[in-house]
Amino acid sequence: MNQSCPFCTTERKKQKMLKDGKYMYVIFSNPRIMPGHLLVIPKRHVMRLIELTKEERDELLDLLIEFEEKILQKLSAGCDIRQNYKPYVENSRTSVKHFHFHLQPRDLNDELHRAVEPVHKPLYRDLPEEEKERLFKLLSNDA
Ligand SMILES: [Zn+2]
Repeated sequence: MNQSCPFCTTERKKQKMLKDGKYMYVIFSNPRIMPGHLLVIPKRHVMRLIELTKEERDELLDLLIEFEEKILQKLSAGCDIRQNYKPYVENSRTSVKHFHFHLQPRDLNDELHRAVEPVHKPLYRDLPEEEKERLFKLLSNDA
């Protein structure tokens, strides 16, 4: 437990848990981007995926599947699942240095799509051959 971490202290205590698992818990994101925006959070204070034990990883994946299914059946046509690692950002209401996954109900032309798509779409570019070869050498299993 980290006393300055909201996921170890305040958020964990004040929020009604959607799921209180053995290693993970599921709560509403507050603040949230859209209704049904959920967080899956390890009970241990960890920063990165690699720090999770095999048992924690298994429960994490099970919960992502379980709650994605609930979202798709009851809330929206689509669902984004994402996780960010940004050690260069200070803790705030929208960025907590305690590993967590976001589950975000999505629909065609929803508010997030309208806000992000005009910025996001132009950032996609064709993958240059040189870049592909250089990064393949760095990241492939043969490296
Ligand atoms: Zn924490």
